[in-house]
Amino acid sequence: MVARPRPNESSHYEVFWQKIAQGVITVDVCSSCNCPLPYGTLICKDHGLKDVQAHEIAPTGQIVTSTRIERHPHPLLDEEAPYTIGVVREDRFGALIYCRIEAESDNPGGRVEIRTKVYRDGVTLIVAVPLDGSSTVAPS
Ligand SMILES: [Zn+2]
Repeated sequence: MVARPRPNESSHYEVFWQKIAQGVITVDVCSSCNCPLPYGTLICKDHGLKDVQAHEIAPTGQIVTSTRIERHPHPLLDEEAPYTIGVVREDRFGALIYCRIEAESDNPGGRVEIRTKVYRDGVTLIVAVPLDGSSTVAPS
């Protein structure tokens, strides 16, 4: 089977992926100002690196934006198309979470449950499941 492409696999993200595999979704948060740091940003712009810690995100959030993928250049992802990806703002820190959205259509503003899902190749990813019952994707 073709391996699923994964983003940044530096040692910093190893912890992120280990927690995802355990079903725990984390975000780096500055302890001084409680602001979530975007993935890939290891320092707070106001407080530097010293107080940044990983925290578990809220299990719910709101879709900021989403897009439907009809075709993908990577063979495995093309096999899974069509699917929806997007950005969700989680409720605890307001962190932006990039994830697969398990809905058949775009739904900006929609409320979602944010959780992990193990795909058929054994890779665990973050998914957002609409809370209003609009998901028509069969649960796994
Ligand atoms: Zn800060």
